[in-house]
Amino acid sequence: MENSNDNRTELLKQIRDEIWNLKESPLYQYRIQDNVYPVIGEGNHYAKIMFIGEAPGKTEAETSRPFAGAAGKILTELVESIGLLRKDVYITNIVKDRPPNNRDPFPDEINIYAPFLDRQIEIIQPEIIATLGRYSMAYIMEKFGLDQHLKGISNVHGNVFGTQTARGKIKIIPLYHPAVALYRRELKTEMLKDFQTLKELIK
Ligand code: URA
Repeated sequence: MENSNDNRTELLKQIRDEIWNLKESPLYQYRIQDNVYPVIGEGNHYAKIMFIGEAPGKTEAETSRPFAGAAGKILTELVESIGLLRKDVYITNIVKDRPPNNRDPFPDEINIYAPFLDRQIEIIQPEIIATLGRYSMAYIMEKFGLDQHLKGISNVHGNVFGTQTARGKIKIIPLYHPAVALYRRELKTEMLKDFQTLKELIK
C-alpha cells in the first residue's frame, strides 16, 4: 500500500547516486568512453511485479531507460497484452551499465551490480519477480534458494516458483528474454502464453 511516510523514492535515489559514482565497476570506463549512462530501473515503486532483464543495450545506455530499444518494444507489447502498462510495473536489469558490444555480462560484472538489485527488491517488495533471460533467472533462483529447479530456460520458462522470504511470500516466474522474439518469431506465441500465466498470478 502506498504510504506517504514510506521513503522508497529516496532509497531508490540513493541507489541511483551510488551507481552513477561506481568508478570501480569494470564497465565504468566504457560508460565514460562512449558518453552514455547507467540504467537503474523505472516504473512503479509500489509495483506488484518486478521485471529483471540482463544489461542495458545501446539505446538503453543512451537514454538511461531499461528496455528502451527493440527488445523493449516487445516487452511493452507483452505487458500490455495482460492489461497492464509499463508504469504499473517496475523494470530493471541485473547489470546496470552496458557491456561493450552487448556481450554477455561477466561474473565479476554481475557480482558488482547484484547488491543494488537486491536493494531494489528489498525496497519495492514485489509480490512477483519475472526474470527476463538466463542470467537474471540464474541469479534470482539462486538468491531465493531455488537452485534445484534451475534448468535451461526453454524448460523452465513460464513455470511459477513460490518461495518464502523474511518479508513474506514471493512468486518467481522465469520468462524468455523479449529479444528472443526478434530472431525466433515462433516463440512469440509461447511468450504471450507465459504472460497469461503471469496475469493469473495477480488476480
Ligand atoms: N536487454 C536487457 O536485458 N535489458 C535492457 O534493458 C534492454 C535489453
